[in-house]
Amino acid sequence: MDILCDFEPAVIQKLDPVVVNKIAAGEIIKRPANALKEMIENCLDANSTAIQITVKSGGLKYLQIRDNGTGIRKDDLGIVCERFTTSKLKQFEDLQSIATYGFRGEALSSISHVAHLTIQTKTANDKCAYKASYEDGRLKGDIKSCAGNQGTQITVEDMFFNMSQRKQLFKSASEEFSRILDVVSKYAIHNANVSFTLTKQGENVALRTPINSTKQDNIKIVYGADVVNEMKTIECQDEPLQFKMYALATSVKYSSKKFTFLLFINHRLVESTAIKNAIDQCYAPFLPKGNHPFVYMDLQIEPKNVDVNMHPTKHEVNFLYETEIVDKIRWAFEGKLVGSNETREVYTQQLLPGASNPGDVNGDQASQGKETKVYAKDMVRSDSKEQKLEKFFGKSFAKDSQDNTETTINVSFESEFTLNDNNESNLVGRKSFILPARTNGDVKRKQTKLTSILTLRKKIESRCDGKLRQILADSNFVGCINRRQSLIQSGSNLYICDVQKLSEELFYQLLMYDFENFCEIRFENPLSIKDLAILALNNEESGWCEQDGPISELAENVEEALIKKADMLREYYGLSISSSGHLETLPLILDNHTPSLGHLPMYILRLVTEVDWAKERQCFETFCRETAMYYARTTLIIDECEWKWLIEHVYYDNIKKYLIPSAQLGTLLLPVANLQNLYKVFERC
Ligand code: ADP
Ligand code: MG
Repeated sequence: MDILCDFEPAVIQKLDPVVVNKIAAGEIIKRPANALKEMIENCLDANSTAIQITVKSGGLKYLQIRDNGTGIRKDDLGIVCERFTTSKLKQFEDLQSIATYGFRGEALSSISHVAHLTIQTKTANDKCAYKASYEDGRLKGDIKSCAGNQGTQITVEDMFFNMSQRKQLFKSASEEFSRILDVVSKYAIHNANVSFTLTKQGENVALRTPINSTKQDNIKIVYGADVVNEMKTIECQDEPLQFKMYALATSVKYSSKKFTFLLFINHRLVESTAIKNAIDQCYAPFLPKGNHPFVYMDLQIEPKNVDVNMHPTKHEVNFLYETEIVDKIRWAFEGKLVGSNETREVYTQQLLPGASNPGDVNGDQASQGKETKVYAKDMVRSDSKEQKLEKFFGKSFAKDSQDNTETTINVSFESEFTLNDNNESNLVGRKSFILPARTNGDVKRKQTKLTSILTLRKKIESRCDGKLRQILADSNFVGCINRRQSLIQSGSNLYICDVQKLSEELFYQLLMYDFENFCEIRFENPLSIKDLAILALNNEESGWCEQDGPISELAENVEEALIKKADMLREYYGLSISSSGHLETLPLILDNHTPSLGHLPMYILRLVTEVDWAKERQCFETFCRETAMYYARTTLIIDECEWKWLIEHVYYDNIKKYLIPSAQLGTLLLPVANLQNLYKVFERC
């Protein structure tokens, strides 16, 4: 006997649209904070400047959001909550250029499927406000006129009243409230021009940010002063990749067990594991294990490269060129962290256990103060009043440096030096290392007798950090990261090395050691100092303002001032200025290196304004600093192949051979990985 199934197959039926919509709505609105995020975005899309939010029971009982934006037209109130109704998107192609937050016309509709929804709104043209209630995407009852201000007020009550299972999931109103607070806080920080107020009904204000505030101020309100005090601005952009990034990130002095990462891509609060991980990795070498930074990031990507149409909750944003963009962001962060002074302690701690505080290395406090001089990266004057050009004219030049020359020959002093141009050197007591000779085949080098130069050389040597010198001497070039940074390996450690900054120090030292022995780079057509000065003064970087006097007059002063110094500059540095005021030669400091012509005008101007010509030692020191800064500035117009070659074979090779590093320069060498540890990791894989 056949055993037949007693059950009839179930009849397949088309689902009631209300059920379909409810399922979809539940996908979008998973909790009160989701609904609120959608509604905040609507307020911002409507150009509001003040947004007030009131909640009860974590938004489950009551959630109201009021704005002062454009309002909704009365004619639209009938359909505003129907699914796929929007004022922001007309055809699929529009998705590619969408700049507003919402685009699907799904938020209000979804909310109306899971809660009681009431809208009260008034546009600028309406005489009164209108109020309407909605249920399952449709208008419930009539649209009533009432009194009210311009803007929109949306009230959501009894969320998930019709979804008993979902409702049971929410046990804690306080947890829902903290999610709401989180969403409001983040949007308040990103939209600092808009004021946000969040209130628990019947209680005090939980969060208030003022109108036209700053992101920093709002971060302080939400996350506290500790975060803001240690915050830096990090920016990068790339034209080919069509993106722009602005971040406020804590320095390595700050750390927290929790990684707070606020990411806005095209003004939408989203998450990106790729970016988050990349940033966390940048900080990892600096922070104690298990600790993280605070980072707010505003990332703007060409809208057509962003796929916003990915998930109804729109948290996940995919974008084109993700790897490349993440790399650029990582470099921007690394650059800021590696170059920062704050890394100093970390360096000492990680690289040189037991090393003395870099500040103590020399004990020469007075000369250390001098080190706080402005370097290339800070060369733009922010306040032109601080350093007026006239300050440098007349006064400094009235005094001839000859009056102050320190020409005494101090034999006993000189004999302290064991460094000379032809021999290996054993420098200053405990800090011993090998410094190769820099003879360039020229055995007849002049030995200077100027005490000032000898003192400055001694200063360099006494600050030398033996371990760092060893790291450089043992190192090999791995590759360029960008125009500033390269990867080098020394022993089993990999370092990110700020080649540009190190080369600035190298140029400074070479200027000290090759004193009176420079070969020259000759201009076929000598350049008029006056013309160069005019070019520089017209450049914003010079900080020139009308009170400084007419540019042509100032340029003449520059010319006159430098002509006076011409003999000295020619004899000591191979920098030749003719009596007619033409620049004929510049010193050749490193073979195969020509300083950038683009930066030459500024250099000439700064020779007059920044060099302390009055006293001999200060004069040499500041002249060499300015010249080093100029020589380390790379020409932007050369192509990638060329700068990579220069960095490896001119800058790095010479740094490795000749740089006498002070402990302070350790901040420019960031240990990123230990190869033995890496090999262990690979073995396990
Ligand atoms: P979307 O934002 O994707 O267009 P929503 O469902 O969030 O879809 O909103 C539907 C429409 O309602 C919007 O396109 C907008 O015209 C209108 N709207 C919603 N909230 C506001 C508001 N606070 N101010 C002005 N208009 C609003
Ligand atoms: Mg919307």
